[in-house]
Amino acid sequence: MRTLRLPSGQLIPVLGLGTWKMGESARFRQEEVAALRHGLDLGMTLIDTAEMYGQGEAETVIAEAIAGRRSDVFLVSKVYPHNATHERAIAACERSLQRLQTDYLDLYLLHWRGSVPLSETLEAFETLKQAGKIRAFGVSNFDVKDLEKATALPGGDAIATNQVLYNLMRRGIEWDLLPWCRQRQIPVMAYSPVEQGRLLKHRPLQALAQQKGVSAAQLAIAWLLHQDNVIVIPKASSLAHVEENQAALKIQLSPEDLAALDEAFPPPAQPIALEML
Ligand code: NAP
Repeated sequence: MRTLRLPSGQLIPVLGLGTWKMGESARFRQEEVAALRHGLDLGMTLIDTAEMYGQGEAETVIAEAIAGRRSDVFLVSKVYPHNATHERAIAACERSLQRLQTDYLDLYLLHWRGSVPLSETLEAFETLKQAGKIRAFGVSNFDVKDLEKATALPGGDAIATNQVLYNLMRRGIEWDLLPWCRQRQIPVMAYSPVEQGRLLKHRPLQALAQQKGVSAAQLAIAWLLHQDNVIVIPKASSLAHVEENQAALKIQLSPEDLAALDEAFPPPAQPIALEML
């Protein structure tokens, strides 16, 4: 698995496993555990979650999937903005660790910007890091202005990533945020890489994928993997989808493929406010 280096020095796999909507129903639990285990077996050792997902239950699904193999996994979780005060962030992290049945997170993110001063959240992250509860921290759904504010604060230069909505249908970050992060070597984590399935119904994408002999999901993921400094975290709860997504790592895109994708999904021609799901 190809990796990127975070500002903290850690290596992070470029393709991982999302978990939003997991843990919401006991009926699908075993299928979700199996999908995550299969992803780990295939080398997709980055797992992304949040205290929000399944109201904590996604983290318990992950605990089951990673039991006995914690050291193989790069584990990312996120704190709610309303839990981002010094005291509450530490308590929220402890609860996540408890549900995940682990004693550390590789990366802990502020899920989106709320009303708690960023300086306080950064202090909480630093306290958690010093205590060995998290190895690195970062943010999510931050636009360039938010990043500029955050990175100028004490401890802000340690922000390891920004997790944002990025896929062929949502290319706004290419205007400003992606270059800003590239310049500072802060990897961007692209969430909803297939727009929660909606992108896969796009006719031109289907046609291009068919021409290349791959699926629409694979083409969409391969395109993101082709972007410099980008980590991709598709969520899949079926074994077949996990396998298909992992195989996207092997797809090479030619200049003609990239041009055809640009024509179907034009890059931004002006600034676009950061979108989120
Ligand atoms: P996504 O990964 O774009 O799409 C997930 C959906 O696509 C699921 O319904 C899945 O089906 C389906 N799918 C996956 N692979 C497929 C394939 N090869 N063929 C056909 N369908 C496929 O959307 P997402 O879950 O919103 O985003 C990914 C992850 O990013 C999340 O799970 C979460 O970890 C993170 N995220 C973060 C934020 C944030 O604010 N930071 C926001 C959104 C998401 P099955 O499950 O049935 O396999």
